[in-house]
Amino acid sequence: MSDDAATRLEAVTRRIEEARRRAGREDPVRLVAVSKGHGVEAIRALYDLGVRDFGESYVQEWQEKAEELPRDIEWHFIGRLQSNKARFLADQCAYVHSVDRRKLGKVLDQRGEEIQRILLQVSLGEEESKGGVDPSKAGELLRQMEAFSKVQVVGLMGIPPYVEDPEENRVHFAALRRLCEELREDLTGRDDAGAEAFRQLSMGMTNDLEVAVEEGATMVRVGTALFGPRSY
Ligand SMILES: *Cc1c(COP(=O)(O)O)cnc(C)c1O
Repeated sequence: MSDDAATRLEAVTRRIEEARRRAGREDPVRLVAVSKGHGVEAIRALYDLGVRDFGESYVQEWQEKAEELPRDIEWHFIGRLQSNKARFLADQCAYVHSVDRRKLGKVLDQRGEEIQRILLQVSLGEEESKGGVDPSKAGELLRQMEAFSKVQVVGLMGIPPYVEDPEENRVHFAALRRLCEELREDLTGRDDAGAEAFRQLSMGMTNDLEVAVEEGATMVRVGTALFGPRSY
């Protein structure tokens, strides 16, 4: 079991490192192990190998697992979020990747004691079923978030369509990176500290992480390649 976990982790780490090298990147890429659909034992096996970043998509499933797991895990919430559930995430997740409307920011701002780091989820390739703000509205959403003192927007997240050939998603990853750069420029001058913090690009999954890293991903969200197939 943990031998499997070690082998898988090594393979994923190597994929990321080789893509970083190809792209000539020196900045780090954070591996978020997407543990939705897998139990606490599988999470613990990766934890024991040094992984601390785990991603979950469903509030209740995450809460049940988090209770049984070490407190120093950095949780990343990556699923579609209802505003009545967002309050459970405040101060409990290191990052909420899936904020795509003002209301979610408002709930996190009101319910949290600490600064909550979030990413704005942008829809890519007209994948509306997966949520995300339209790219043309991302700047407006970012400005709305500035009203919330306990919410800090640290970047963008995207889920491109599933494709057999990951090269097809390169255009989407490149577009998300450009949007991130544009929004950072827009922030500069108005909020220099905010612009400095706005650098995370959460993109790339099991099937397409190399292309995402080549296009500038700073966080990749990997489930299947680390844990095997999911039960749902
Ligand atoms: C499930 C999920 C992942 C992981 O997908 P894999 O293909 O198993 O690596 C990444 N991001 C999001 C938003 C997900 O829901």
